[in-house]
Amino acid sequence: MRITIKPTIVWDFHSLLLGIQMMFSFMLTDDTKPLRLCKHCTKVFVASRPSNQFCSPECKNRYNVYKSRKKNKPDGEAQNED
Ligand SMILES: [Zn+2]
Repeated sequence: MRITIKPTIVWDFHSLLLGIQMMFSFMLTDDTKPLRLCKHCTKVFVASRPSNQFCSPECKNRYNVYKSRKKNKPDGEAQNED
C-alpha cells in the first residue's frame, strides 16, 4: 500500500491583490530567483541575494528610519508618515 502525500503550500496574503501579484511573479521568474515580499512596502520583488529584505534601497532606508523613530519615541504621538 502506498500513500502519496502532496505537499501543500499555504500562503498568508494580506490581500487578494498581493496573491495575484505573487502569481504573476511566479510566471515571470524561475527557481534561481527567490521571490520576496518587501519588508517595508510589502510588494513582491525578486531578491538578487537571499539576504535581501527590501525591494529597493529606498525602502530599506525608509524602513530603518521608521524603526529608529519608534525606538526614540516609544510612546510619542504619531509622526507624519507618508
Ligand atoms: Zn519596498
